[in-house]
Amino acid sequence: MIPAMKAAFLAVGSELLGVDRLDTNSLAATALLERYGVELKYKAVAGDSVADIERELLGMVSCCDVVLVSGGLGPTADDVTREAVAAAFDRETREDAAVVANIREMFHRMGWVMPEVNRRQAMVIEGAQLIPNPQGTAPGQLLRADGAAVFLLPGVPRELKAMLREFVEPWLQSNTCGQVRETQVLKVAGVPESELEERITAAYEEFGRENVTVLAKPGDITLRFTATGEADTRQPRLAAMARRLRELVGEAVYSDRDEALEAAVGRELIEHGASVATAESCTGGLVAERLTRVAGSSAFFEGALVVYSNRLKTALAGVPEALLVAHGAVSEETAEALARGAREGLGTDYGIGVTGIAGPGGGSEEKPVGTVHIAVAGPRGGKSRKFRFPGDRELVRWQSSQAALEMLRRQLLQGHE
Ligand code: ATP
Ligand code: MG
Repeated sequence: MIPAMKAAFLAVGSELLGVDRLDTNSLAATALLERYGVELKYKAVAGDSVADIERELLGMVSCCDVVLVSGGLGPTADDVTREAVAAAFDRETREDAAVVANIREMFHRMGWVMPEVNRRQAMVIEGAQLIPNPQGTAPGQLLRADGAAVFLLPGVPRELKAMLREFVEPWLQSNTCGQVRETQVLKVAGVPESELEERITAAYEEFGRENVTVLAKPGDITLRFTATGEADTRQPRLAAMARRLRELVGEAVYSDRDEALEAAVGRELIEHGASVATAESCTGGLVAERLTRVAGSSAFFEGALVVYSNRLKTALAGVPEALLVAHGAVSEETAEALARGAREGLGTDYGIGVTGIAGPGGGSEEKPVGTVHIAVAGPRGGKSRKFRFPGDRELVRWQSSQAALEMLRRQLLQGHE
């Protein structure tokens, strides 16, 4: 077997060292490298400094087969990637007349005259192959240095992605053994991470621990699974993995795409030809906001009542005053009354009610911060649950919206039976 190639990524740009910009180009590059089984050994961020870029490059070529550099190919004096690479590998640079003509032509087409500084972008490193940049002025470059393939790529994310797709990917295709590593996902809600881990133990054994990954956020889990090989062995294997994982995880799987819960709930509602409305207290309309993120949500979402005060819980959602006095605003009874109020008051098939204590204040011994009651009322009756969510105000509100959507989804699933 050919040993897997190793790669490093260098993001160039002083702005990436500040507080306003984060290097995201390495993520796009990493996704591509992973697909071809190339292991990313490390990545770094360097400012627009020849010495810093040079030092990083020398370290990278000493241990990696592929080095991807993004940024610093612009026309201004602080775009020094070309100079740094030339210095690191002791190469000359020369101006490429064809590249200058091409840049001049691009300016001309836009009705401008090329500023002389743009000639910097036509400086080609000795021995380098030019990489066309259909989306910008600076071409990329590929050179061999100390046994490594060094790619100089643009910093503008759109240009970088185009070059990865159109040049780096074909290069990887012909320079790796053709074994593509493909990843699929299952999205899971309504199960704690530790319980999910327990449920999928068998899959770890069957498919290899390194091929199944659990990425957990509060209330939302992404199960990633991977197969490597030619398409005709890889795809059936992925299908088998998906089937097995679904069998182990059960109803908690809400999607086989990388999408949010509201998208899956929206699809389910459309399939049922059902509509929904919400009456929300502590989430302040977040459940409604998430439902309306889904394109085409008018097919299933009618509207919402944001009833924060007791007065409006009664006046708009029809929660009896006596009920609020007897059980309190944060109670199972109030959540159920809110769900009914949304459903009956707004005339939909399903109603969601949410009431709770998001914090940081307002908690008590009996009802600590994070206590949330959620109810769903539907044509076949209702269901309510009490939750105790950890985390700060934002997290409590987020998890409440997630739990409300998941309760609705489960209720819709039962309608299928
Ligand atoms: P150009 O040739 O268009 O001048 P360049 O190769 O010199 O591009 P930069 O000037 O370094 O690229 O960056 C252009 C833009 O792309 C900036 O807005 C920058 O913040 C953004 N950018 C650069 N590097 C990255 C990165 N690693 N991740 C995300 N954004 C980046
Ligand atoms: Mg720059």
